[in-house]
Amino acid sequence: MSMYLMNDRFVKDDEVTISIEDRGYYFGDGVYEVIRVYGGAMFTAEEHIGRLYESAEKIRMELPYGEEEMIAKLARLVADNGVKEGHVYVQATRGAAPRVHQFPGEGITPVITAYTKSYPDHAPAAEPAKLKSAADIRWLRCDIKSLNLLANVMAKQEAFEAGCTEALLHRDGTVTEGSSSNMFGVKDGVIHTHPVSNFILNGITRRVIMQCCEELGQPVKEEPMALEDVYEMDEFFLSSTTNGILPVSEIDGRKIGDGHPGPVTERLMAAFESKLPEPIATR
Ligand code: PMP
Repeated sequence: MSMYLMNDRFVKDDEVTISIEDRGYYFGDGVYEVIRVYGGAMFTAEEHIGRLYESAEKIRMELPYGEEEMIAKLARLVADNGVKEGHVYVQATRGAAPRVHQFPGEGITPVITAYTKSYPDHAPAAEPAKLKSAADIRWLRCDIKSLNLLANVMAKQEAFEAGCTEALLHRDGTVTEGSSSNMFGVKDGVIHTHPVSNFILNGITRRVIMQCCEELGQPVKEEPMALEDVYEMDEFFLSSTTNGILPVSEIDGRKIGDGHPGPVTERLMAAFESKLPEPIATR
């Protein structure tokens, strides 16, 4: 049976109790992270938990224990649940209190929960993504990994209803990112992606990609792309914790390149893969 983290305790699923007055439930008042597990080891856990605590600080929420303790607790959850390939999800809400918008008073502490998910053995590699462009109607603090994901949910649903796997978000014709991913176009050997700002989440996978690019001598322009230009890109890919680097074959029904992963994308995918943890059993 899977165990869950509930504040500072490890409990079974029937022992997880969340109040109906939890501010995550009422307001989406909280932050979260997803950390990928490869071969039993969490990948870039320090970066993810660093971002969790930064997000918490940006919404003026103080977590009851520190980053190192959080990582140790999540590592224990991964080990106890026997996760080999999968991920761990952790979230922290501002706590449970009667419903008023302003912060609750003294004595209300954040509620932290985490669970793991194991992926099926021999899951087939994800198909190249098909994107649908959608208006980015989110708030102006997309740098915070907030639980408040309604605009992302609406955009992803719009993409799914169009037979696509992800939404390509744009603000007035300027591409920002995906509903749950960062976006990259390749033109004449140069990668284009939105700069880190309040308009995007500074993806941990994006950071690893930037490091790979530096090591490979791969030119990158951190400048926003115009939506009208993406259809003419030679290659396109997205990045996220759960998908790593995923090639994009189509945007709004228009084929990108020849519809197959291009050489820049493939080189980056190989470089990314070389950074993944060795399976724990063979270390
Ligand atoms: N942007 C958004 C809006 C996301 O939800 C995600 C997924 N967490 C990303 C980008 C990719 O970030 P990461 O590589 O850290 O998963």
